[in-house]
Parts: sequence; structure tokens; C-alpha cells
Amino acid sequence: MNTTFLNMETKKLAERILNEHRLCDACLGRLFTHLNRGVKNIEKGRLLREELRRKKVSPENCWLCEGLTNEIDEFAEIVEEKLRDYEFSTFLVGSKIDEEINEREEKLCETFSLEHYESLKMEINREVGKIVSEKMGKQASFDHPDITVLLDTRFNHVDLQITPLYIYGRYIKKIRGIPQTKWPCRVCRGRGCRRCNFTGKMYETSVEEIISAEILKVTKAENESFHGCGREDIDALMLGRGRPFVLEVKNPQIRSIDLKELEKRINKYGEGRVEVNSLRFSNKEEVVRIKKAAFPKVYHAKVVAEKEVPEEKLKEVVHSLQGKTIKQLTPLRVAHRRSIKTRERKIYHCRILELNGKAFKLEIHTESGTYIKELISGDSGRTKPNLSEMLGIPCRVEELDVVAVEGE
Ligand SMILES: [Zn+2]
Ligand SMILES: [Zn+2]
Repeated sequence: MNTTFLNMETKKLAERILNEHRLCDACLGRLFTHLNRGVKNIEKGRLLREELRRKKVSPENCWLCEGLTNEIDEFAEIVEEKLRDYEFSTFLVGSKIDEEINEREEKLCETFSLEHYESLKMEINREVGKIVSEKMGKQASFDHPDITVLLDTRFNHVDLQITPLYIYGRYIKKIRGIPQTKWPCRVCRGRGCRRCNFTGKMYETSVEEIISAEILKVTKAENESFHGCGREDIDALMLGRGRPFVLEVKNPQIRSIDLKELEKRINKYGEGRVEVNSLRFSNKEEVVRIKKAAFPKVYHAKVVAEKEVPEEKLKEVVHSLQGKTIKQLTPLRVAHRRSIKTRERKIYHCRILELNGKAFKLEIHTESGTYIKELISGDSGRTKPNLSEMLGIPCRVEELDVVAVEGE
């Protein structure tokens, strides 16, 4: 081995350090990590020590690491053991080291003005990562690893942080009466009580639960979060090409899944209730994007008026609604979960699909966030202008369907 990188200056410095402290080869080499990076720390330490004709110090007797550098293989083993339950391709090791060791290390480097040393923590992270990578055939990665390993060297304990799996798709809701997301019982907050028939929920199921049931099975995940691009009312259908969503799958044991196959399974399970399409893998950034997105919507509203509606009058009113900006004070029915304020929303298009005495059906194309039921009823004057007032006949929405979420 070429030892020319061990110049006089280095040797003198090493001598001074070893006169003060007993160090194992790995710890000694680490202090000179910047010299010839092709040589491993432990090897560098050995060469230095032999040049200085010093006796070998076992890690157990090392003043600095107290045996830690000897445990790297063991650490790698417990990490590997823990990782074995998961399917992944990239990982990153981080570790916790006894504070006293850190303090000794800092003090030593300060005393001898060592600026280019590698910390014990870094060495353990790197070496454990290398061993695990080779043994398991996985890649260590700083950039969005699938799993972050937290190794506590004080207690030989390993925790894993599993990066969630994000799946994007669009859903179609074919039945009325189920909410978009799980809704815990208001009385017992999920524990189960008489009010909720001991289900812990306000509704038996939801779009979220129907979509996630198969996903949780396939990924062997613990839990999930549903992120929808807005939501329709519980009693409204979501038709057309569906509404965009991202499902955040938490602690998945399986990550490489066939989304085409998954789509089939979800649609079989949800048949007649909820269907999904356009599934693809996604990420955290997309959750933010679809939560913020304000896509225009097209609705079909089945309306019932208090008395028969003259066709000409309805045509006139519907025509004049087009292009109008309406003002909506937070509707009473959502006031418990929305801040009370006036929102301005634009109606792009409006047309009559059917008219039959007191009943008629409208297609309304509006800005995101328009409250359609209130646009029709007026919500006791909280929405202005509104269809009931313009017609001079009180009307209410009997059925509401979202037929398009545009802009994706
Ligand atoms: Zn040591
Ligand atoms: Zn309950």
C-alpha cells in the first residue's frame, strides 16, 4: 500500500493525539478521513499506527467509541432483519449515538484543530448502509428513499420510517347517500355507541373506504389518507370522467403493485357504487396541487318548484344567469365546517335539459366552489342573485349530480 499520504505533519499530529488518548484503528483513521479517500478509515488508522509503532487498541478499549466501531456488522444485521418485512428499492440509514461519545469527539477535534474528520455517526450510517445495500441488493439513497432507517446504537434498536405510497386516480360515485371520506360518529368520535350502531361512523361506508379496501390489502398497508380535489355532497352523484384524488397509503409493505390489476379489483369491489380510472403513482407534491386546484364543474340539477313554471320565464331566467357573478354567504348547512364569509362565484353556462310542470332539470357550468343548491333556493337570501328570486317561484334541488370536473 502506498503510504506517501502519511506525511510528517500527519504523523506528528497522530502521535500527539495517541499520546493523550487510546484510539482504535477506525477512530484514528476517521480523524484523517480527508487524506486519500480511497483507503478505508480502519485501514488508514492501522497504517498510521504501524508507522508510529504503536500497539493495537481494540474498539472495546477505545477511549472514543467504546466498542461501537466493532458493532457495525451487528447493526447491519438488525437493520436487515427489520427491513426484511418490506419490499422497497431505496433506503437511507440515520443513527443516534450516545451524547457522551459525540461530546468526546467534538472536544478531541477541537483540541487538535481537526477540521476534516468524519464523525462516528457518519461512519456508522455509511458503513451500515453499505453492508445492507450489498446484502439485500438495495440502493442507499439520500433522495426520496422508500425507507429511512433510524438506528439507535445505544439500545441496538431500529425504527423504520416508511415513505407513503401515493396513488392518483379519478373516481365515479354512482350511489347517493355516502360521503367522500370516512366520517367518525359525532357522539362517540369513533369508539362505537348506540347512535352509530357501534360502527364508530356516521355512515356505513364512504368513497374513501370503498376505494382503499383493496389498496390496503394489496400493499399490506396500515392506514391511508384520502385527498380529494374538492368533494360533492353526500346525496350527490359524481359522474362523467370522475373526480381527481390521491390516496396516501401509509406504511405499505408492498410498493411495486400493478395498477391496472388494482383498478380492476377496486372496480369489482365497488361495483355499482364507486369506480376508479386513470390510476397512476403520484407524490406528496401532487396532493398539494389537487387540494389547491380550483377546477370548474358541470352539474345536472333536478329542481322542483312550488308551482308550475312557465317555459318562457324559465328560459329568460336561465339565459340571464349565464356569465353572472353571484355572491354566496356561507350556506347554513355547511356553516359548522366553513368560515362565515361571502364568496363570489361565476356561472359560465346554464341550460334547460327538461321541463315538466313543476319539475325541471338544469345543466350548470360554474366556477369551483359554487354552492348549487343555494344558487337555486337562495338560502333565505344568503345567495344573491338566485334562481328562485329571479323566477319569482321558490325552488329547491331534488337531485344533484356532478357530471364533469374540468381542468385536469
Ligand atoms: Zn474507536
Ligand atoms: Zn357512535
